[in-house]
Amino acid sequence: TAPELLRNFCIIAHIDHGKSTLADRMLQLTGVVDARAMRAQYLDRMDIERERGITIKSQAVRMPWGVGADAYALNMIDTPGHVDFTYEVSRSLAACEGAVLLVDAAQGIEAQTLANLYLALENDLAIIPVLNKIDLPAAQPEKYAEELAKLIGCEPEDCLQVSGKTGAGVVELLDRIVERVPPPVGDAHAPARAMIFDSVYDTYRGVVTYVRVVDGSLNPREKIVMMSTRATHELLEIGVSSPEPVPTKGLGVGEVGYLITGVKDVRQSKVGDTVTNASKPAATALGGYSDPKPMVFSGLYPIDGTDYPILRDALDKLKLNDAALNYEPETSVALGFGFRVGFLGLLHLEIVRERLEREFDLALISTAPNVVYEVTLEDKSVVTVTNPSEFPSGKIGEVREPMVKATILAPAEFIGAIMELCQGKRGELQGMDYLSEERVELRYVLPMAEIVFDFFDQLKSRTRGYASLDYERIGDEAADLVKVDILLQGETVDAFSAIVHKDKAYAYGVMMTAKLKELIPRQQFEVPIQAAIGARIIARETIRAIRKDVLAKCYGGDISRKRKLLEKQKEGKKRMKTIGRVDVPQEAFIAALSSD
Ligand code: GDP
Ligand code: MG
Repeated sequence: TAPELLRNFCIIAHIDHGKSTLADRMLQLTGVVDARAMRAQYLDRMDIERERGITIKSQAVRMPWGVGADAYALNMIDTPGHVDFTYEVSRSLAACEGAVLLVDAAQGIEAQTLANLYLALENDLAIIPVLNKIDLPAAQPEKYAEELAKLIGCEPEDCLQVSGKTGAGVVELLDRIVERVPPPVGDAHAPARAMIFDSVYDTYRGVVTYVRVVDGSLNPREKIVMMSTRATHELLEIGVSSPEPVPTKGLGVGEVGYLITGVKDVRQSKVGDTVTNASKPAATALGGYSDPKPMVFSGLYPIDGTDYPILRDALDKLKLNDAALNYEPETSVALGFGFRVGFLGLLHLEIVRERLEREFDLALISTAPNVVYEVTLEDKSVVTVTNPSEFPSGKIGEVREPMVKATILAPAEFIGAIMELCQGKRGELQGMDYLSEERVELRYVLPMAEIVFDFFDQLKSRTRGYASLDYERIGDEAADLVKVDILLQGETVDAFSAIVHKDKAYAYGVMMTAKLKELIPRQQFEVPIQAAIGARIIARETIRAIRKDVLAKCYGGDISRKRKLLEKQKEGKKRMKTIGRVDVPQEAFIAALSSD
């Protein structure tokens, strides 16, 4: 297709504002998915995406759309909305010339509406403002059109009104995309340069690489070069997703499609890399994206120690599809052999864990997640700590922790509640703006460790669900952080060591010692459980209680998984860990690590 007839766009919005549903209507109206094959959130293919109703992976789909006598090809890229996956959004944006900015007409602008808009503006995309869900009785499209127009600097009348559910206004939206999104520009005669914006491992076809061609063209059976590694591959198949893969005779300037080369590992087809022709390679690569960095670390251990090799293979397999996943082996006195795994955030952690349990039939325990700390020792050398039990014990110069810039949007009546929460989380207010009379934006700098765990839940409950949150990583800052160890009969139990702020160390110590007192069975002798900072004891309990039923304390989740967990735990009961002179069933550790 000639570039003049191409339009590459994405749909950006706050989570739940209706991107995937709108994408469904577009697939239907353009005829690429017929009514019989249609199901809700068609592009969310993974089981987890469908069950949770969230999009994790971006998707690109080509759709024909006629305006007058011209047959256009629209490439739509659906993007995930959750903050953990922002790096997916920014890749998708770089493959587009325009963005449909979707706002729920019953909710108005939310934190990720702003975050995604700013990303789109950074990428110089044409913005098409759209109010969605106008079928809802609570919709106030006129009111929110004003807000939206003020935000992006257009007239309220420029905001289209649609319903992804009923399809109202979607034809007009498709026409508007053709009219407002500029066609791609590139040099058709230059050596090919195509940007890899996603790569996915498929059991049958190997790695499928999604690209957007900027210059030149790629053709079937030719040899291509990955510019970062200089690796050469033969193109076995090239085509477009519509949304099923359709092989084509090639991809030219501005086109979005997929390549299959027979490589088996997504790391050989790196997101952000540039693909060029082997016969006439381009001189310079396109500007890439930075690699996603893990933000949160947790230890993952099989409940049944003999599952360790299965866990290792499972992680290797998931890594094929998820370049953001990082892991290395680690051992724990309490839990045995496992892995220290790096994630983009807590949702990423949950999803990886759930996929491991489900797709590989594993029962796992994960240790309390932590962020990454930079510890400067007295001799000025710096240690990066991803596991609290590796926190240096000698004299320490300074501990630095990662910080985030958070944006919170909420009705003005909740300002007090939000400020209280943020202060309790060591936040510093940077600024506050009124978006309208009743809606405010608060900007805070907060330690990442305080925000990634239960911050969002607390924010939601203190604002009756009305607040929204977005955050981005900024630099590191020094803080008064200490390692709290938990000791059983004088021996440190590594899985329970935590790095916490000095002011919260005592509360952590009291909480953990009390929990373990409940869980560890009575022994022949008295067993002290202590919390300590270095050699200083900050909390103490002594085991005298009668043994309680620990199984009731396991986390929720679906019944079959829970039952399986219980069965594995019964086996675990037999496996005692000896810490000091104390015999502790592994299940006690597992229950203590499961969140309440
Ligand atoms: P996404 O997170 O932006 O992809 O949002 P989804 O498309 O998954 O939609 C979130 C929820 O809003 C789902 O329950 C949808 O059924 C619902 N929804 C989406 N669009 C509309 C709409 O136009 N009208 C109504 N009434 N509900 C909608
Ligand atoms: Mg979605």
